[in-house]
Amino acid sequence: MSVVVVGNGMAGARFAADLRALDPQRPVVIFGAEPTRAYNRILLPELLAGRVEEDDLLLPEASGALDLRTGVAVTEIDPVRRTVRADDGSRIRYDALVLATGSRPVVPPIVGLTRADGDLVEGAAVFRTLADSRRILAATDGARDVVVLGGGLLGLEAARGLTGLGLSVHLVHARGQLMERQLDGDASRILTRTLEGLGVRVRLHAATAAVVGGDRVRGVVLADGTAIPADLLVIACGVRPDVELAVKAGLRTGRGVVVDDGMRTSDPSIYAIGDCVEHRDQVYGLLAPAWEQARVAAGRICGRPARYTGSRLVTRLKARGVDLAAMGDPHAHDEDTEVVTFADPAREIYQKVLIRERRLVGAILLGDNPSVGTLTQLFDRGAPVPTDARSLLFARPGGGAVGGVGGAGAAGPGAAGSGAVPAANSTLCQCNGVTAGAIARAWLGGARTVAEVTATTRASTGCGGCRDTIEGFVGALSAEPEPGSELGSELTSQPDFESAAEFGSESGSESDCGSAAGPDVREEEGVA
Ligand SMILES: Cc1cc2nc3c(=O)[nH]c(=O)nc-3n(C[C@H](O)[C@H](O)[C@H](O)COP(=O)(O)OP(=O)(O)OC[C@H]3O[C@@H](n4cnc5c(N)ncnc54)[C@H](O)[C@@H]3O)c2cc1C
Repeated sequence: MSVVVVGNGMAGARFAADLRALDPQRPVVIFGAEPTRAYNRILLPELLAGRVEEDDLLLPEASGALDLRTGVAVTEIDPVRRTVRADDGSRIRYDALVLATGSRPVVPPIVGLTRADGDLVEGAAVFRTLADSRRILAATDGARDVVVLGGGLLGLEAARGLTGLGLSVHLVHARGQLMERQLDGDASRILTRTLEGLGVRVRLHAATAAVVGGDRVRGVVLADGTAIPADLLVIACGVRPDVELAVKAGLRTGRGVVVDDGMRTSDPSIYAIGDCVEHRDQVYGLLAPAWEQARVAAGRICGRPARYTGSRLVTRLKARGVDLAAMGDPHAHDEDTEVVTFADPAREIYQKVLIRERRLVGAILLGDNPSVGTLTQLFDRGAPVPTDARSLLFARPGGGAVGGVGGAGAAGPGAAGSGAVPAANSTLCQCNGVTAGAIARAWLGGARTVAEVTATTRASTGCGGCRDTIEGFVGALSAEPEPGSELGSELTSQPDFESAAEFGSESGSESDCGSAAGPDVREEEGVA
């Protein structure tokens, strides 16, 4: 059975690796429109901030015979003949086709932003690919003033990264608050203050009327007439699933390519995964769902009964000097929902948890928040929260304020590093769904360094937000007097989420991305 993948991004590359792991002999062809090897897109803000090099972004290549065609785009699918045609003139046959075409940035229709040929004027750039990032970095050379359009997560991360390069940055957002899908007004006000303290000048209620400068960006003019100078304009106005090929092939599409729980489209020979997908009316635009979907599609193609049942959203901002995590629905203020908040604007702290039927349905954690790991776990697993909701906000990792998480205390970022013993089924790496038990198993199997544990389990290979936790946990395991002694044995003897989610399980699993450019990566309004 020959498999063809369209898209060598984070989902396509992961799918190929998962398929290889299940069936190393199966022929796989991957088309990637970008000219590079697959890379970790979510670390692009770190590249912009000068904190990583391009080589640090490259994803491991799938082992085995893989026919990888970089710089080649598929232009047409013929579902009847089961062939794809590419822009290098090739046409190949498939038994199973996997669409992993990702999403495209939204470019708002602002006067002066595009040239007659439709390209962006010089000095303006979207922020989606490595090539975009190179363009942005090249434009910072000799630049002084930057405008970032869009007050969602991506815009915030770009703005913060560029202030780190010593540039004067305005963040322009048409709405009255930042990250309106993940935050409420109070959180947005405190976040605005934090960003301003870091040098980002935030303009809310600021619709952009025009880009000025002719062929080259010189500034923007807002609807109220305010002019802001800019040598560089970064557009972070959301993305749309790339459904073009699917539409042309007659597949069912809505906002994305519609798939079932086996990641199958309306054509049973064609699967779709990642950002381009619409599953149960949801489009995610996040890494953790994309990787889980990749795993399910690989399992299905290899005849396993894997299922994807949806993901719960956890959003974490990756911007130096700002600690922000948001999960679920922070706006669920109905009569069945208990809302507990704590705000300390002077210290730039805001905490809010929303509880319904003793389950966490939403949370905002801004500033110093020791309980972020615990709350992520509770949300991720739909576990009951303590009756005294205040203890949720003020729990110290390992302090025992929130008992009963997996029966062994809560794990999360910081928990392992602080010496607390996480429950075996605590997910330490949200992007990859790696539990403490899986890490302990790898460690007992001989992986003794962080690099070895990472290579074995994939922990911390997504957003990297769990790196300290993994290091702390590996450190705790290594402090054991001998391999296989108490901590490792205790953890590996506990039931582990991951085993329930392995291929062959019909139950499927739910996982989040612990450090995500959340759903607002998809936002398509409120910018221009
Ligand atoms: C700057 C940035 C930061 C982000 N940060 C986070 C984060 O912190 N956490 C998080 O969870 N998510 C984050 N995301 C979102 C995350 O990157 C995506 O969810 C993830 O990349 C989805 O993977 P994908 O393979 O579906 O799409 P992509 O990674 O976009 O890959 C799609 C690939 O398909 C190729 N392609 C498209 N059409 C064709 C064709 N016809 N032929 C051949 N190739 C084609 C494209 O060129 C592209 O390379 C971020 C995104 C960006 C841009």
